[in-house]
Amino acid sequence: MVSGIKYIVLIAFLFFSGLIFAQKINEPKNNPKEWSEKTEPFRIAGNLYYVGTYDLASFLIVTNKGNILINTGLANSLPMIKENIKKLGFDYRATKILLLTQAHFDHLGAMADIKAETGAKLYVDEKDAAAVVSGGKSDYEMGKYGVTFKPIKPDHLLKNNDKINLGNTTLIMLHHPGHTKGSCSFIFNTNDGKKTYRVLIANLPSIIIDRKFSEVKDYQGIQNDYAKTFEAMKNIDFDLWVASHASQFNLHEKRKPGAAYNPNAFADKATYLKNIKDLENIFLKKIKQ
Ligand SMILES: [Zn+2]
Repeated sequence: MVSGIKYIVLIAFLFFSGLIFAQKINEPKNNPKEWSEKTEPFRIAGNLYYVGTYDLASFLIVTNKGNILINTGLANSLPMIKENIKKLGFDYRATKILLLTQAHFDHLGAMADIKAETGAKLYVDEKDAAAVVSGGKSDYEMGKYGVTFKPIKPDHLLKNNDKINLGNTTLIMLHHPGHTKGSCSFIFNTNDGKKTYRVLIANLPSIIIDRKFSEVKDYQGIQNDYAKTFEAMKNIDFDLWVASHASQFNLHEKRKPGAAYNPNAFADKATYLKNIKDLENIFLKKIKQ
């Protein structure tokens, strides 16, 4: 038998632990196995570290006032990200700011849990806020799967060229819409005591729909957004680059496990420009359909 007071306490507990109103999270399955496999964390350049899974990139930026974590993989990436941060000798609980390059389930599957565990503030491109709040349900394409990740309430909304400051580090958000309404990249300077590098964390504008752009009623202007993003991304000045997926910047060819610190492995601008050009050609072919 449950007394009145105990009953109220129980209901309050269930409510706040999310059990009563928990939404069914329908994270798409049958993903590439590399998304869920481990890889060695390492220092990319200066205060930038790779802490993601084999293919789903997560980046840790370590400052003198706590850390910034960009992208959090699938829901099952959580223990890998935490372990990677620990392996590098950093404190997961020191995560102060969370960022993402696009509101798809494979980049923020673990975001809600990391936010709850660390108390970090989530900064989101304002155009992706609705997708983040709805657990992906409002996305023009992925919305067909319903809620694909735990819904999260952003703490701050960002516009193109907005600055994100933490301690001795300042990132600039670059609005690169198309893939999602609020897809974005980040650029910042990092110094390793010998040299300063301008690093681009790029969200490559791949196209995920088979239907025509004109048929995408939930994202008016998608074609124009892609066109603007291609122009913008061709004209970014940087020294090093990485991207949302390890395979997009050939991480595992550029760096083998156990390799020494070597920022210049990530300096190949030619591959970046070729990737942008290849994606733009797919886009140009699509709009001629
Ligand atoms: Zn995506």
